[in-house]
Amino acid sequence: MAYLTLRNINKIYPNGFHAVHDFNLEAERGEFIVFVGPSGCGKSTTLRMIAGLEDISKGEFLINGEVANQWGPREREVAMVFQSYALYPNMTVYDNLAFGLSLQGVDEDVIDERVQKTAKILGLTDYLDRMPRALSGGQRQRVAVGRSIIRKVGIFLMDEPLSNLDAKQRVTMRSEITQIHRETGATTIYVTHDQTEAMTMADRIVVMKDGYVQQVGTPREVYFHPCNVFVAGFIGEPPMNFIRRTVENGCIEIAGAALDLKEKLGEKAKDYEGREIVFGFRPEAIALEKPENAYVLSGTVELTEMLGDNANVYLDMAEEKVILKVPPHEIPPMDSELSFFIPAESIYLFDGESEMVI
Ligand code: ATP
Repeated sequence: MAYLTLRNINKIYPNGFHAVHDFNLEAERGEFIVFVGPSGCGKSTTLRMIAGLEDISKGEFLINGEVANQWGPREREVAMVFQSYALYPNMTVYDNLAFGLSLQGVDEDVIDERVQKTAKILGLTDYLDRMPRALSGGQRQRVAVGRSIIRKVGIFLMDEPLSNLDAKQRVTMRSEITQIHRETGATTIYVTHDQTEAMTMADRIVVMKDGYVQQVGTPREVYFHPCNVFVAGFIGEPPMNFIRRTVENGCIEIAGAALDLKEKLGEKAKDYEGREIVFGFRPEAIALEKPENAYVLSGTVELTEMLGDNANVYLDMAEEKVILKVPPHEIPPMDSELSFFIPAESIYLFDGESEMVI
């Protein structure tokens, strides 16, 4: 039995705005689930419904098999970390960590033991006497995380906890949170609009758009088998390249090259004759030397970006622009003509109308 079940969960705000539509998810105990999607897609609303901070308008929410729609946050045994750390400014790190347990009337000795253990997990032992203002952003965020894990809850909810940190701190905290999750084993739901956080941290990712779940899957599944154009474009950096074309005689034409899609479309080739499809390939899936069974395309180099371990090449292909990822020693000169190959197995085809993968 799943630990958390969201069954056709909907949120309609009092002003009539329908923010979440039929959200379905089963999370196993200990799973790390990431909700990802652009701003306003309903991630925080769903998280707040799980936390018990927001009413569920329609649908059923179960914890460990029991309907929990009406339970308060305390009964749900959830701890939540917000974007703003919300530490008590006049309390030391120790007291910030201890405060929740003191309120619950937990024994001083037990509190001390848990504070010391939590501080150790988070590398805060040397800072227990400090005030929050004397900490870096990353250290403050660690105290905020510590305040949640110290309570030993079953469900750990985090809403964009890293967004106030700089890029370097984010990378460090990312792995620290993953590590803490491994140690505590709490079922975790983590909200972010950052696909890298989703890819690196999640056991499973829920991709959302406009209040609808688009796909639920492991990072590999959503990256290699996106269900539609939106997921394909949202997961992966730089995003997948898309080219919209009408199929004629089983082929599409891109920048003067005819690409035969009959084999790729298989039995569906006939259905798509005369219809629009979206042809997709990832910047990193291309090759500069011809592999077996590949499509070849070319364009003019407009811009290159050296990133260190690789480089982005922006190519102008008459009707569209695409981005390619190439090794740093193969950066082409500006304004040169570049031919590249896309292995047939790295091509994605989507229905031009529904935008679902074919
Ligand atoms: P972000 O990444 O910007 O936080 P999100 O995916 O978490 O976005 P939500 O905060 O869940 O999005 O909001 C979803 C939608 O619901 C948005 O369009 C938002 O404007 C709307 N919304 C949020 N709170 C309310 C409210 N109290 N009343 C009406 N509409 C609301």
